[in-house]
Amino acid sequence: MVVAPGWGDGVCRHCLVGNTHICPNVRWPGFGPVGGFAEFIPVPARYLVKANRRLKFEELAPLTDAGMTPFRGMKKLRDAGALGPGRVIGVLGIGGLGGYAVQYAQLLGGGAKVVAFARNPDKLAIAKNYGADHIINIKDKSSNDIAKELSKATGQADLDAIIDCAGAEQMMQLGFSLLAISGHYVDVGLVGDRVDIPLFPRVSREQTFHGSYWGNNTDLTEVMALAAEDKIRHTINIFRFDQINEHIELLRAGEIVGRAVMKF
Ligand SMILES: [Zn+2]
Repeated sequence: MVVAPGWGDGVCRHCLVGNTHICPNVRWPGFGPVGGFAEFIPVPARYLVKANRRLKFEELAPLTDAGMTPFRGMKKLRDAGALGPGRVIGVLGIGGLGGYAVQYAQLLGGGAKVVAFARNPDKLAIAKNYGADHIINIKDKSSNDIAKELSKATGQADLDAIIDCAGAEQMMQLGFSLLAISGHYVDVGLVGDRVDIPLFPRVSREQTFHGSYWGNNTDLTEVMALAAEDKIRHTINIFRFDQINEHIELLRAGEIVGRAVMKF
């Protein structure tokens, strides 16, 4: 079993369509009365989701968070019609979430070309390994140079869809500068807290921005179904409870490649 993390009140209109994680009365294990780095917590039964017994703890743990968040974001792009043959999707930021986003772009993209953007060559290598058709290192490059590189790689200088796994201001400015006519931009990252972008192209090019926050029971159930079929690959660093502070520092410094999992 795994735990779907957004516990709603069960009665509001968001809960009633299954989006308990955006309920105005939501409770998050780890942010409220229970959870965090506890070994055991009480969980309302309806938030337990079945997981294949064969899967290991360290494979399941990141799927409830880093593995689910970009999945929901990718579904929003798919449901908006932003993916499919002849489209190009950009994955911005290849950290704990981006490595999964690249895989979901291939699984749900319906033939769209997948391009990963990041500054760290090790992280880009992971993206390539996970099925990115192209990788672009954006470190110290102007958005014009990046557009040229994108054009050389894919035959077009813009992106029909973007999943942003960083949410950092500079990265978002780059993302919006690359967003195509009728493009869809979904952000799941929360590194920055605000963004300054030109308004006119958003309107004249009829672009859409989607916020996408963690995931609900259905998202987690679908991720578990993919995991049960070995369709999701992981880059995991396992550490012990007493190493937690140093790993939080590494995470803050952006030095964790993939996802860190604490084992008791
Ligand atoms: Zn509710």
